[in-house]
Amino acid sequence: MENYMELIIPSYSKNESFARAVVGAFFSQLDPDLNDLNELKTAVSEAVTNAIIHGYPDSIGEIKIKAKIYDDVFEVNIIDQGVGIEDIEQAREPLYTSKPEMERSGLGFSVMEGFMDEVEIISKVGAGTQITLRK
Ligand code: ATP
Ligand code: MG
Repeated sequence: MENYMELIIPSYSKNESFARAVVGAFFSQLDPDLNDLNELKTAVSEAVTNAIIHGYPDSIGEIKIKAKIYDDVFEVNIIDQGVGIEDIEQAREPLYTSKPEMERSGLGFSVMEGFMDEVEIISKVGAGTQITLRK
């Protein structure tokens, strides 16, 4: 393994931009082009925002972000111990949102899929969610 980092933050909405910046700074070690960097940062933002608003809808909990660089792959995990996802297939569908009343558009996972090479979702109701993004 070439390099790695871990970050633990409470799920305050203001920490979304912080997490985005930290992961972006770490990824910058690979000297990515600006487009790749922006895509990665946007995908991370979507996953962190999901942990904040969906993972912990009524409380503040911890979000762990792990990133590693190996064999020219950049991998990032966004982990919460929140409510979990009941139907992962459905959650991945473009335009599906469980919070239409909050004016969410249901495009977060589509953005992650579009901007990253791989998106994995592991989730258990009542236990939490782990998103893995690779580029
Ligand atoms: P948008 O991202 O466009 O604002 P959204 O967040 O509802 O809308 P997605 O990001 O695609 O859309 O997520 C789809 C659904 O998956 C969410 O509505 C939510 O029900 C569920 N979900 C996503 N991440 C989590 C999470 N960390 N914990 C619990 N549920 C989640
Ligand atoms: Mg979302």
